[in-house]
Amino acid sequence: MGKIEGLVTNIQRYSIHDGPGIRTIVFLKGCPLKCKWCSNPESIKNRKEIFWQEDKCISCLTCLSVCPEKAVRISDEKKIFIDLNICKLNELCIKNCPSGALDIFGDKMTVDEVLDIVKKDLSYYNVSGGGITLSGGEVMHQFEFAVELLKHCKAEKINTAIETTGYSDWNKMKEIIKYADLIFCDLKLIDEEMHKEYTGVSNKIILENIIKLDELNKNFIVRMPLIPGVNDTSQNAHSMIDFFSKFKSGITLQILPFHKYGHYKYKLLKIKFKMEDTEMPEQTALETYKEYFKGTNVNVEIGGR
Ligand code: SF4
Ligand code: SF4
Repeated sequence: MGKIEGLVTNIQRYSIHDGPGIRTIVFLKGCPLKCKWCSNPESIKNRKEIFWQEDKCISCLTCLSVCPEKAVRISDEKKIFIDLNICKLNELCIKNCPSGALDIFGDKMTVDEVLDIVKKDLSYYNVSGGGITLSGGEVMHQFEFAVELLKHCKAEKINTAIETTGYSDWNKMKEIIKYADLIFCDLKLIDEEMHKEYTGVSNKIILENIIKLDELNKNFIVRMPLIPGVNDTSQNAHSMIDFFSKFKSGITLQILPFHKYGHYKYKLLKIKFKMEDTEMPEQTALETYKEYFKGTNVNVEIGGR
């Protein structure tokens, strides 16, 4: 029985990205990185987050009256806001809001509850070679939950994949990858100082973990979001080529073009999107980056937006 609880941001069925076949992607909440281009800002904090949508609000003020903590307030600009210092996250305001203007990112679910949803598409997995992909946030952030879920999937003969930032204690990573048929591991930048500047953390652990994945002969794909003006340079490409040249086997590098589809979530969370002025890369920019790797042991694939 999978009674361990996790904090889930979203479960996306019928995905054809993030692994072979038709897949169910389970997004977990909580991430140690703060990438400036993050398209899932609701996945960063490892706790539930309430948000208010002005365009849906009918100003009935029910939320103020039902909150036992008096955490719902009206700002000077006549906007609803929640004082998170005193909010107890009992969600009474959300349940009583007549227009759906209040909602929450993050749902506590047991392994069994997630599995029930994942198993709905068993027939699709069987015909397509698909399965489950655990994504985030960072899956290692909810290590026990993630391991338990993957174990249950393996017991059901469901193909498993994980997406990780690679920024994790190796012992945890070594354990979780026992239950993953495929690992997507991010490598956003080779230059450590730039990595710190754009993600908030050093990339040392990530580089070490990728080397260990290679040493263990794991089935893994390195993923890189291509961010114009940040990591689309020949310098970053050549540093990657140098890094991978010592690997035992050929490497698959998937380039994922930067996009702004998550911009609206920054607005909901009232966080500034730091890459607002950055344009999405043209196909030619992706092809140019791919070209740098010609004749090396790195096979570059261009992924979808
Ligand atoms: S209960 Fe919902 S609709 Fe009413 S004021 Fe609060 S947020 Fe707006
Ligand atoms: S979740 Fe509960 S405590 Fe928090 S603002 Fe809503 S009603 Fe108040």
